[in-house]
Amino acid sequence: MTESSSDKLIEVLRKAVSRTSMLAEGNDPELDSVVRQIRQAVNKGAKAQEIQDVLNNAEPLLIKSDEALTDRAKQVRSTLQELIDLLERQTSRRVPQNEKKQLEAQIRSNWQVSSQWPQLLKGFLTLAENTLNQPEDITNQSKSSFLKRFFNRNSDSAPKNNDQEIMVQISHTFAGLMNNLSLPSIYDEDIVDLKRALLGNNNIQQLPGLLDEVINFIMIAIGKTQESLTNYLTQLNKQLASINESISTSYHSQKSLSESREGFNTKLQMQVEDTSLAINGIKDLDSLKSLINDRLSTISSTMTEHRAQMIEQEKHSAQSITSLKNKVTRMEKDTASLRTLLQEKLAQAMTDSLTDLPNRTAYQDTILPLCKIMQKTKKPICLAVCDIDHFKRVNDSWGHLAGDKVLRLVPKQIRSVLLKEDLMFRYGGEEFVIAFPNTSLPQAIERAEAIRLAVVKTPFNMQGEPVSISISIGIAELNAQEEPESLFSRADKQLYLAKEAGRNKVMGNK
Ligand code: GH3
Ligand code: MG
Ligand code: MG
Repeated sequence: MTESSSDKLIEVLRKAVSRTSMLAEGNDPELDSVVRQIRQAVNKGAKAQEIQDVLNNAEPLLIKSDEALTDRAKQVRSTLQELIDLLERQTSRRVPQNEKKQLEAQIRSNWQVSSQWPQLLKGFLTLAENTLNQPEDITNQSKSSFLKRFFNRNSDSAPKNNDQEIMVQISHTFAGLMNNLSLPSIYDEDIVDLKRALLGNNNIQQLPGLLDEVINFIMIAIGKTQESLTNYLTQLNKQLASINESISTSYHSQKSLSESREGFNTKLQMQVEDTSLAINGIKDLDSLKSLINDRLSTISSTMTEHRAQMIEQEKHSAQSITSLKNKVTRMEKDTASLRTLLQEKLAQAMTDSLTDLPNRTAYQDTILPLCKIMQKTKKPICLAVCDIDHFKRVNDSWGHLAGDKVLRLVPKQIRSVLLKEDLMFRYGGEEFVIAFPNTSLPQAIERAEAIRLAVVKTPFNMQGEPVSISISIGIAELNAQEEPESLFSRADKQLYLAKEAGRNKVMGNK
C-alpha cells in the first residue's frame, strides 16, 4: 500500500469518526461538548494519540448516554403499564383479559426497542377501545361514561371528578414521556406547547388528539435516528468501497513489492471488507460506534505492526546491501589479482626462462597473424632459422652450465644487430627463429650475414680459454597464400643446406 492510500484511509476513518460523533450528539449536554471536541480534533487533523485521548474521555459519557436511553425505555414501559392499570381500575367495563395479556407480552419483549413504542401505544388504544365495546356493568356507571367520553371525540358531556383525576394522571404520564424524547431543537416549542396542553388539559375530548400528537413526536424521534443512521451507513459503505478499490489497485500495481508488504495490503483489505460487511448488519447507533472504534484500533495496530516490519526489513536490506557491496569489492579485488596472476602465468608460458626470449608457443601464436597481415598488405616478410654449430661439443667439453651460458650470450649478440621491429624466439634447444617484417629475401640474407658475423666474432670465455662459437642460418621469404608452417619448413631446409655446406653460413632461397 502506498503512502498516499494510507493517508486516504486515515482521512476516511477521520470522517467516519466525525460522522459517528454527529449521531451521538443531542442526547446529553456534557456528552455533546466531548463529541464536539472529537469532531474538532478529527477535522483539524490532530495526531492519532490526541484523537485517541479524546475518544477515551468520551467513553464514560457514551456509556452514560446509553444508560439514559435505557432509563427512557424503562419509563415507556412503566407508562404503558400504568395506562393498562388505569383501564383496569375503571369498573364499568371488563378489560378483555386475553388481549391485555397479549399486550403485556408485547411490552415485555419490545419495551427496549424505541421503534416499537408507537406500536405498543396503539396496542393500548385498541385494548381501551375493545374494553369500551364490552357490555356495560350497570353498577359502575360513572367509570363507563369516562371511557365513553375518552374515546368518543364527538361526545360533548363534561368529565366528572373521578374521570378528571384519571385524565390528569394520563396527561402527566404522557408529559413525562415527552421529556424523554430526543428531538431536533426545531420541535422544542411544539413540545413545550404539547406538554402544557397535556398538563393543563381538563377536557377529556382533547385527550385523544393530544395522544396522537405524542405518537407523532415519538415517530419523528425514531425517524430522525433511523434516517441519519441509514444515510451514515450508506456514506460509510461508499467510502469503504472506495478504500477497498484503492487498496486493491495499489495491491495490483505493486505486486513486485516484498511479501510482507503484500501481506499487509491483504490484511488491511480484509479488515476494511470485514468492516464493510459488519456495518451492513448493524442497525443501532451504539453498536455502530463501538464497531467503528474496534475497527479503528485493529487497522491502526495493523499499520503499526506493518511500520515495524518495514523498519526491520529496511534494516535487513541495508545490511544485505552493505554485505553485497563488500562482496562485490572483494570479488573485484580477487578478479584483478587473478587477472594479474593469469597474465603472469601466460607470460611465463610464453617466455623461455633461460634466455628470457619468447618461446616456441609464443612463436606459434605470433607468426600466423603476422604472416596474414603481411600478405594482406602485400609487404615482404622473411624467416631465419638459426642453429648453434656443434653445440653438443660445448656441453661435452665445458659442461652443461657452460652450454647454458652460451645459450644466454648468443641471443644477446644477435639482438645487437636486429632492428626494433624484428622478432626473435627460442624455438628449442640451441635453435632460434627470427622474423624480419617488411624485409625482402636479399635484405634478410644481408641482415643474417651481419648476425652470423656478430656471433662468430664474439670471444666466448670457457674456463679461461677463448672459444669461438658460430651459427648457421637458413632463410626463406613468405610467398602469397603461404602458410607459416611451409615458410618455416623452407627456411629449415636452407639451414640444413648451410650445415651441409660446412656451417657458419647463411643460406636463403625462394
Ligand atoms: P649441429 O652443428 O649439427 O647442429 O650439431 P649440434 O651438436 O649443435 O647438434 P645436436 O642436435 O647433435 O646437439 C644439440 C645439443 O644441444 C644436444 C643437447 O644436449 C644440447 N642442448 C639442448 N638444449 C640445451 C640446454 O638448454 N642447455 C644445454 N647446456 N644444452 C642443451
Ligand atoms: Mg639443433
Ligand atoms: Mg646445433
